[in-house]
Amino acid sequence: MKFNTQKYSIPDEPMKPFIDPAEIIGILKNARPDKSQIKDIIDKSLAKNRLSMQETAILANATDPDHIQMIKDGARTLKETVYGNRIVLFAPLYIGNKCQNNCTYCGFKASNKSAVRKTLSDAEITHEIEALEDNGQKRLILVFGEHDQYDPEYIAHCAKLSYSVKKGNGEIRRVNINAAPLDIEGFRTVKEAGIGTYQVFQETYHPEAYKTYHIRGKKADFNYRLTSLDRAQEAGLDDVGIGALFGLYDWKYEVLGLIRHTNHLEACYNIGPHTISFPRIKDASMLQMGSKYIVSDNDFAKMIAVLRLAVPYTGMILTAR
Ligand code: SF4
Repeated sequence: MKFNTQKYSIPDEPMKPFIDPAEIIGILKNARPDKSQIKDIIDKSLAKNRLSMQETAILANATDPDHIQMIKDGARTLKETVYGNRIVLFAPLYIGNKCQNNCTYCGFKASNKSAVRKTLSDAEITHEIEALEDNGQKRLILVFGEHDQYDPEYIAHCAKLSYSVKKGNGEIRRVNINAAPLDIEGFRTVKEAGIGTYQVFQETYHPEAYKTYHIRGKKADFNYRLTSLDRAQEAGLDDVGIGALFGLYDWKYEVLGLIRHTNHLEACYNIGPHTISFPRIKDASMLQMGSKYIVSDNDFAKMIAVLRLAVPYTGMILTAR
């Protein structure tokens, strides 16, 4: 398959969206797994090659318990071969929950007038980091809502402050960021602060589903969010993390969306995402998500195995909140 390799900054030519829902749905519809195909695909992954969207769809569509076990065994073997027993922990530090967006699934949404809004002061950030260092933490992810107060200069300031806090032998060696999409200049500013990975999750790669969850604020613009990590690359910030919020739309579609995003970054910038995150939403009181797209434990385990095989060299982040 030939991919759109248009970069973000071609003058006078808006970037074409690289997500085509019809393409993804067509690939899923035509992917009919059989045992020998599944074995060949797993072998390709074990040889440390990234899988195509079609190959990933074949694994995602597997329903025979023996086939699913082959996929899980393959994923385990790949993990042990590439990463050994190593897992990396990093601690989330919520800097502030002010937000100008209205994501229907999030308690921080602007319309939630009963939420207590809080932004940590520098002294409070320092205190939190000292406590994390006492606990042996060396890696952080600083989390920000999307708000004018959390501009690139402020994000860069928080990153530099985090690196400066040292308690006993404790120090923070890596500060990752989870924050709103920035423009190219903004990404340059946070890169200069020496950050690790900059994460922006698309939440759902389906544009129509996206509209139903993101009804106001900057985040309502699907394409601006989708191209955010292209702007990061243009700014020289090549350590980026992508993710989808599983439960908003069909999980197989989202897996292919993540692979499409990966091959877009690889084709345009010669480097894929450092990490893929797969937070999973569960229905809850006052949320009223409905059960249509909620991902069962069985499907979630299979989905993680499929993703592991699809992107052998990409870090996978299990998030708990
Ligand atoms: S942008 Fe983030 S913090 Fe704000 S409402 Fe949406 S999910 Fe919540």
